Amino acid sequence: MVRFKNIVILTGAGISAESGVKTFRDNDGLWENHHIEDVATPEAFARDPHLVHNFYNERRAQLRAVKPNPAHKALAKLQQELPGTVSIITQNVDDLHERGGGEDIIHIHGELTQIRCKACAAIHTWQGDCTQSTTCPKCDREAVLRPNIVWFGEMPFFMDTIIDRLASCDLFISVGTSGNVYPAAGFVANVQEMGRAHTIEVNLEPSEGSSQFAELRQGKAGELLPVLVDELLAS
Ligand code: NAD
Repeated sequence: MVRFKNIVILTGAGISAESGVKTFRDNDGLWENHHIEDVATPEAFARDPHLVHNFYNERRAQLRAVKPNPAHKALAKLQQELPGTVSIITQNVDDLHERGGGEDIIHIHGELTQIRCKACAAIHTWQGDCTQSTTCPKCDREAVLRPNIVWFGEMPFFMDTIIDRLASCDLFISVGTSGNVYPAAGFVANVQEMGRAHTIEVNLEPSEGSSQFAELRQGKAGELLPVLVDELLAS
C-alpha cells in the first residue's frame, strides 16, 4: 500500500454496533424504538421536552454499559503511530472513540455527554440526567437546557474545520455509515472534487454512496479496521 500522511476517517453508527449500541437504519429507521421525528428534531423538543430529555438521558446512561471495540481502538492506534495526521470525524454522539484512546474527535452531530444552555449558550459536560427543572450551572435559569446534539434540520458542527481536513487529505476512509445523512454522506464527493485522495469504504454492506469509493472492504468494522490499520502502518 502507498504511504499516506494525511488521513481523514468518517465514522457512523456502524462502528459502535459491535459495542452493543444499536444503529439506526438497521432497525427500520427507528432509533432505539423511536421515530427520529419524535426525538431528534427541534420541533419534537418544543412539543415534548420531557420525552426528548428522557430519550437522551437513557442514551447517556447506556454509555456506562458499553465499551469501545477493536475498531475504535484500531483508529486510536493509527492516530498514535502513523507518522502523519489522522483526523477522526464522527457522526456518533457516543464517547466510544475517546474511551478507545482516540484524540481530538470531531463530533459533527454533537455529544451525549454535553448539555447546552439555550439562554446563555454555555456548554456543560454532563454525565447524569437532565430535565426541564434542571437549572443551568452558569446562568441558573430553569427549562433552558437541551442536549448538545445536532438534530435533523439543524446546522452540523465544525464544518469549516472539516472542509479544510477533507481538502488536504490523501486518504479518506468511511466506516459504518449508511450514506443517508448529509452533509457527511457528501464528504466522499467533496474529497474527490477538492483533491486526489484515495477513498476506502468499510461497511457491513455497500452504502448508498458506495460506488463513489475507489475501494470497498465489506464486513465488520471490528474485524476489518485492525487489519487495515496494520497495513497502513506497515507501508
Ligand atoms: P446508520 O444507522 O444510518 O447506518 C449504519 C451503517 O453501519 C449501515 O450501513 C450498516 O450496514 C453499517 N454497519 C452495521 N454494523 C456494522 C459493523 N459491525 N461494521 C461495519 N458497518 C456496520 O448510521 P449513520 O449513517 O451513522 O446515521 C445515523 C445517524 O443517527 C447519525 O447521524 C448519528 O448521529 C445517529 N446515531 C448515532 C448513534 C451513536 O452515537 N452510536 C447510534 C445510532 C444513531
